[in-house]
Amino acid sequence: MREMTLSILKPDAVRRNITGAINSYFEKAGLSIVAQKRIKLPYEQAEAFYAVHKERPFFQSLCKSISSGPVVVQVLSGDGVIALNRKIMGATDPANADHGTIRKDFALSIEENSVHGSDSPENAAKEIQFFFSEIEIIP
Ligand code: GDP
Repeated sequence: MREMTLSILKPDAVRRNITGAINSYFEKAGLSIVAQKRIKLPYEQAEAFYAVHKERPFFQSLCKSISSGPVVVQVLSGDGVIALNRKIMGATDPANADHGTIRKDFALSIEENSVHGSDSPENAAKEIQFFFSEIEIIP
């Protein structure tokens, strides 16, 4: 089933100028980037985006990290793209990520792990809406 998911190339990736390298992982897997923009998330917006994690001990550090510099937010489209993107990204902690995944190849740490990807259809819909209006998404 054709789906859409929200992807973020995090500040550690933008800072190291590897957004093109990461995009090639999506494109090689047959996913399409149907919306994309570079933004800087204010800290309060980061808190809103990561609200589900607000009880976790690393919440403040995570919000500080994602708002520390520009990010590239994007909508990816394809068959089963939500699960497929999670597979291409690899495990949260790069130490546990499979070979050939984005996080294995690029992540700096469990926190600065280069990419975000929605984990369910419900969250994908919410997260896409958080960053994009309908006219910005060109399937
Ligand atoms: P994801 O879905 O693989 O991104 O992982 P989670 O939803 O569990 O966590 C969201 C984000 O919080 C991760 O991508 C990391 O940037 C960060 N994070 C997760 N676990 C930890 C942790 O144990 N310590 C720190 N500092 N950050 C973490």
